[in-house]
Amino acid sequence: MPSGKTGRRVASAVASVEQKPAARPIAIILFGSPGSGKGTQSKYIVEWLKIPQISTGDMLREHIRRGDEIGRAVADRMKAGLLVPDELVNRMVFERVQQPDCERGFILDGYPRTLAQAEEMVSVLDVRGTSQVVIHLVVDYNVIISRMSGRRVCPKCGTLYNAVARPPKVEGICDLDGTPLVIRDDDREEVVRERLLQYERQTRPVIEFFRATIDRVIEVDASGAGPEAVFERIRGELREVLGQDRIR
Ligand SMILES: [Zn+2]
Repeated sequence: MPSGKTGRRVASAVASVEQKPAARPIAIILFGSPGSGKGTQSKYIVEWLKIPQISTGDMLREHIRRGDEIGRAVADRMKAGLLVPDELVNRMVFERVQQPDCERGFILDGYPRTLAQAEEMVSVLDVRGTSQVVIHLVVDYNVIISRMSGRRVCPKCGTLYNAVARPPKVEGICDLDGTPLVIRDDDREEVVRERLLQYERQTRPVIEFFRATIDRVIEVDASGAGPEAVFERIRGELREVLGQDRIR
């Protein structure tokens, strides 16, 4: 078991005497439910800090495409309807963050997803002297449900519409080719609700673990504001954490 919040504070205070805090790489752990705008915020942070975004979903797909050792192991398990084991995901992430482009820091997107992954991540990053900050995008589930269930797609050309954010000129009809719009299966209200429920079940223990072990867990209310306003809030919080000297 990790030594707890107090123990880690002492350890990082010692580390900061030995090495300049500004030189420590940073792991930004981006947390948010489906529909919270995590992907968009991740892109903004990449552009701003010039550090890579590490998405375990993308990496797994890439390993499967390449058919390497990890890819084959994952594909077999997925075919058998099994979850990807924590050790495998951990190994993949730790290999990735040793790449030279992660020297100054990186954004973790979709990882850690389980408590076991979170515990391993914190202990590995602690040993390496990587500072950790969690950004939790908090969106009212009712807002997500109305956002996602308001989505319509043109079955002919694939154009996406949204009842609120991007309505078609004529309700239910594609602007480009006049085809009646449809709701994708993924956007049906009952499907969205089920995904949110799963997310809640899976990530609540992870967030609770972070609150107990990581000093900087930033909750950002992403319900009402647009993506740019949400990013401004995140940037403000991160500036404070990182110190003005290491970032613009
Ligand atoms: Zn169309």
